Amino acid sequence: MSLRAWLMGMLAWALFAPPAWAGAIDVSQVNELPLSHQLQVLEDPQHGLDLASAMQSRDFAPPPGDRTNFGFSRSTWWVRIDLGNPTGTPVRLVLRQDYPLIDTIDLWQVQDGQIQGDVATGDRRPFDSRPIGTRDFLFPLEVAPGSTQQVYLRMRTSGSMNIGLSLVDPSTLVEGQDVRQLGFGLYFGGFFVLIAYNIFIFLAVRDRPFSYYLLYVLSYGLYFSIIDGLAFQYFWPGQPAWGNTSLVVMLALTLLFGMRFTRSFLDTPQLTPRLDWVARALEVLSVVAFAGAFLLDYNQIIVPISYLTIAITAMIITMGIIGVLHGSVSARYFMIAWGVLLSAVMVFMAKSFGWLPHNPFTQNAFQIGSLLEMVLLSLALAHRVREINHLSRTDALTQLPNRRTFDEALDREFERHLQRGQPVAVLVADIDHFKQVNDTHGHAFGDKVLRRAAKALADHVGASGGRRMAFRYGGEEFAVLLPGEDGAQARETAEALRRAVEQELAALIPVTISIGGASTGDGTHENHHALFSAADRALYAAKRAGRNRVMFDPV
Ligand code: GH3
Ligand code: MG
Ligand code: MG
Repeated sequence: MSLRAWLMGMLAWALFAPPAWAGAIDVSQVNELPLSHQLQVLEDPQHGLDLASAMQSRDFAPPPGDRTNFGFSRSTWWVRIDLGNPTGTPVRLVLRQDYPLIDTIDLWQVQDGQIQGDVATGDRRPFDSRPIGTRDFLFPLEVAPGSTQQVYLRMRTSGSMNIGLSLVDPSTLVEGQDVRQLGFGLYFGGFFVLIAYNIFIFLAVRDRPFSYYLLYVLSYGLYFSIIDGLAFQYFWPGQPAWGNTSLVVMLALTLLFGMRFTRSFLDTPQLTPRLDWVARALEVLSVVAFAGAFLLDYNQIIVPISYLTIAITAMIITMGIIGVLHGSVSARYFMIAWGVLLSAVMVFMAKSFGWLPHNPFTQNAFQIGSLLEMVLLSLALAHRVREINHLSRTDALTQLPNRRTFDEALDREFERHLQRGQPVAVLVADIDHFKQVNDTHGHAFGDKVLRRAAKALADHVGASGGRRMAFRYGGEEFAVLLPGEDGAQARETAEALRRAVEQELAALIPVTISIGGASTGDGTHENHHALFSAADRALYAAKRAGRNRVMFDPV
């Protein structure tokens, strides 16, 4: 060999020769390193390997396609990570497993064939089996100066085998943990506020959908707190068995109460009785799934309950659409809420398929969408209360405010009169010989006459603005409130109203109305009842005097 060739060889060796920690991760350089390329995995479907045989095995290989989510895999999965510390000082760092629902995780640190440390944890083991008590799995590691180390992990789970390992420098970890905890605080704080707020509203209005909404939010919030590993940490750290069952239990309850809430919110027994029966059957299946969660293995229940989730979601959407088509405004709010959730789920799935980038928003889209859905549903409930309130204050036939609204308004205006000294007038209008209209032309026609008369009154009263208002008092009687009008002004208004109604109805049928009125400007009235009685008296006087006229108290 020539000297030249030898020198070249030496140079090549110096440049490319593997150092002592060949292929190992240089831990002194690690800030935050997600491990998908740098780890080696080994699937053990027979669960036959122990640490000694795993250490001998030559079958460790990088994960296929760099994917570290192996779906619902029944196998035991071994992971090997090679660490190297080329510096002269020991390096501490943390191995983090982000997905908190792995049943069992065993970890060994091996240096020069010797076990340096081991941990046996997982969410099937009590919470205090964790070296650091956090919702995710954190394993503190230390690599001695100038040495290499192999970390072996053995994982098994009955759910999704999601390996989300990363190496993090401790101070980076602490900083990141702050932001994550703040995020969780915001998220679950949102659920908490929604529950507290709606409990108060429920106590005030006692509207049934609120109670189902509360149960729905509660089970949904708990479901996510289980997925995030927080429920295990804070609610039942000593009960790993229940911790695992609880996930399916809460999912089943979420489905049950989601369906219940939808049925009662949209009033589907009225809206679409046949579909409502199907929805009831789905509720029964949710109860079956609830029971199944206690009796069956996670693997056996998860597929049927996934189908049930799809069926119930489809049912909720269908019912919402039917509600919207029937013109319910609350149903529109309801559909917006569900639209937001479904869009968020699509964003999440698009991310999973790689169509959208991984970022904190796409990563958490499902969770963010579910909270937004809950907020919007709460608004939908508030709107529903308004709608019901409006209905209870409105006359269905004429759409005028009803008697109840009139009583309150009269009381209010009379109080105002007492406080400010401004007069207020009341008119009571009654259609003349209306019974004959019904008798001759039938009730349907009578109804039409009533609607026209109501419209004429409302248009005329409303035209001048202010707080003047017409009400359907009952039957073929209407009441009109004229704040600020003394006797003379009210008389003029009443006369104008009488003519307006007569003209409006002329096209339909020649009927007239009689109006009785009273104003606080004309005398002293003890209270609003007295004022109304005075107007009523005047009405009877007008009837006796031959109808189709206005008379005021005192006559
Ligand atoms: P008067 O001039 O003395 O007021 O005679 P009248 O026939 O109008 O009075 P009466 O109180 O005897 O009859 C009122 C009628 O109004 C009787 C009832 O059938 C009718 N009526 C009340 N509410 C409604 C309704 O909602 N629709 C229809 N079509 N008729 C109604
Ligand atoms: Mg009448
Ligand atoms: Mg009458």
